[in-house]
Amino acid sequence: MRLSQFFLPTLRETPTEAQIVSHRLMLRAGMVRQQAAGIYSWLPLGHRVLTKIAQIVREEQDRSGAQEILMPTIQPAELWRESGRYDDYGKEMLRITDRHEREMLYGPTNEEMVTEIARASFRSYRDLPRNLYHIQWKFRDEVRPRFGVMRGREFLMKDAYSFDADAAGARHSYNKMFIAYLRTFARMGLKAIPMRADTGPIGGDLSHEFIILAETGESAVYVDRDFLDQNLLDLPVDYDDVAGLQKAVDRFTGFYAATDEKHDPAVAARLGDRLVGARGIEVGHIFYFGTKYSAAMGLSVQGPNGEKIVPEMGSYGIGVSRLVGALIEASHDDAGIVWPAAVAPFGAGVINLRVGDAACDAMAGDLYARLRAAGLDPLYDDRAESAGAKFANMDLVGLPWQLVVGPRGAKAGTVEVKDRRSGAKEELSLDAALAKLTAPR
Ligand code: ATP
Ligand code: MG
Repeated sequence: MRLSQFFLPTLRETPTEAQIVSHRLMLRAGMVRQQAAGIYSWLPLGHRVLTKIAQIVREEQDRSGAQEILMPTIQPAELWRESGRYDDYGKEMLRITDRHEREMLYGPTNEEMVTEIARASFRSYRDLPRNLYHIQWKFRDEVRPRFGVMRGREFLMKDAYSFDADAAGARHSYNKMFIAYLRTFARMGLKAIPMRADTGPIGGDLSHEFIILAETGESAVYVDRDFLDQNLLDLPVDYDDVAGLQKAVDRFTGFYAATDEKHDPAVAARLGDRLVGARGIEVGHIFYFGTKYSAAMGLSVQGPNGEKIVPEMGSYGIGVSRLVGALIEASHDDAGIVWPAAVAPFGAGVINLRVGDAACDAMAGDLYARLRAAGLDPLYDDRAESAGAKFANMDLVGLPWQLVVGPRGAKAGTVEVKDRRSGAKEELSLDAALAKLTAPR
């Protein structure tokens, strides 16, 4: 993409309404535009990141055996009356009346709807287990929408729903999601810590929140330092290995990790100086809640001996749009965003320091073409701006690599390659620069 043609409405001034760094940087980098409290448009740079995050989530859900569907945002109130949540949900639910005076709502979550789908189609125990997920916008009329996309009113969530014939099966489905979550966040360059959580209004027996550490997190958390040293990228992925998966889950739940509400200072004290106190952001939340919805909504299937089985269910959420902000909270510096490569909106930035100079234009153009051919999806700053403005802009948008073409290098046949995270710079030939960017990090 040529920056001269790219819609990137960056701001020079720091927006005063934004209280935390991710919100400020998202506005400054032209990623989103607020349309109403907690409601945002996603502009091209932001949309690219949102899409990349959703794709990683999707790949890991698929790998675990979950199947993607797409349920609507608008739901009939009737479904929620069946579960009893229509009245319980309170003011967070946006209620709508259609032209026929039918009560509708903008879905804050989809347990009822997915249970209705299962009820309409599952007949036998052979239809189980199933895990259905979608990546869809939700609306919750939060009392205090704040921190930009981190606590929005309209937000993008991945929510999965598992159905099993018995509690042991449901536990296995839960474990699959548990491991899939660790992998998902690790692929984004995040270490999400599973913490035992209250099951709250969704109800049920077993629940974990996945929390990443960041100074601006809304909750105080405590964690064993040893967890932070775990490599989560090479987790087992044999999702059919029931015992192996349970072992992996036991290992990760064995580390002390707790939010404020669940923190037990007496137990934590045993960790000594391994105990880390920090702030955390919830990026995912998984629940096992048994037959709460299946029983209430009359979902049952026939067992092997003709008996009636009421499926055991779980639900599993990831805050896809919240993750955009959370990633920035976890990875930025004074100059701007520092994207982990897997979610970066572009793979590299090319800066042409002297647009109009034949040698610079030729070299930058060549570099741009070769980066594109190598699949690096570069952003080429071909605008007639000052060098200072270009450097500042590239630092702000936070691409993993910057390749700077100037008159001296153009003569010598070299570019300056800057690693955005470390700031380290090297003069390299085009071939060497390309080799460096395509090498596994
Ligand atoms: P929170 O405790 O932060 O209010 P929650 O427990 O109500 O979240 P869940 O119902 O568990 O949220 O939703 C699953 C995920 O969706 C959360 O882990 C979070 O990442 C994301 N999420 C929830 N509410 C919001 C929101 N208002 N804006 C953006 N993301 C959200
Ligand atoms: Mg939650």
